[in-house]
Amino acid sequence: MSDRTLSPNEVKEMILSICDKIIASEAELSEADRKLGDGDHGLGMQRGFTAAKAQIEALDPKSVGEVFSTTGMALMASMGGASGAVMGMLYQSGGTALNDCEALDAPALSKFLDAARDGVCNLGGAKPGDKTMVDALAGAQEAGQASVGRSLSEAFTAVAAGATDGMEKTKAMIATMGRAKTLGEKSIGHPDPGALSVSIMFNTMNEYVN
Ligand code: ADP
Ligand code: MG
Repeated sequence: MSDRTLSPNEVKEMILSICDKIIASEAELSEADRKLGDGDHGLGMQRGFTAAKAQIEALDPKSVGEVFSTTGMALMASMGGASGAVMGMLYQSGGTALNDCEALDAPALSKFLDAARDGVCNLGGAKPGDKTMVDALAGAQEAGQASVGRSLSEAFTAVAAGATDGMEKTKAMIATMGRAKTLGEKSIGHPDPGALSVSIMFNTMNEYVN
């Protein structure tokens, strides 16, 4: 188990499990956005991951990166809005870093997360602490970096825990970006919906691998 890697086809299966999980989480994600935003986050994610599922099902992947990049492009094309751009960029930037990768291992997972975080932060300008999906992504990325010497299954467990932790921390934050910004201190106590999505995505990856 310690030298286990994921082939492009296994990454495809893993992404399809994320698509199903996000589609099924529509009510939870919309409810989270009703507390902090306009209540559409679940529907946008459901639309994006329904489009991604169709594209990924039809894909015969040659590399790990191709699966992630195809997912990102499908999200960008179908979701629209701020979250379509940032969620799409997460997968697209991360995937581009693994263009030549034929076996996902812990160092490759870390490379994916580094590029995903850079891509999202450069595009949207959010930093950790702003109460956005970046808090969950940064938690995942830091755990990935700390796990490069571990097995892939240990790395995924740490990355999922880092994403969950980053999402949990958003509950105590005051929003400074996006629609929730106007709520000020009223945003305290609720998790950021995008961070919740990111935490669900990395926990579903961990469930697939372990
Ligand atoms: P909208 O805000 O257009 O209604 P959604 O409700 O689908 O879009 O998504 C809101 C989520 O998008 C937020 O919870 C936040 O995590 C994420 N988000 C918004 N703006 C940014 C940004 N600049 N950088 C990173 N994430 C962002
Ligand atoms: Mg919204």
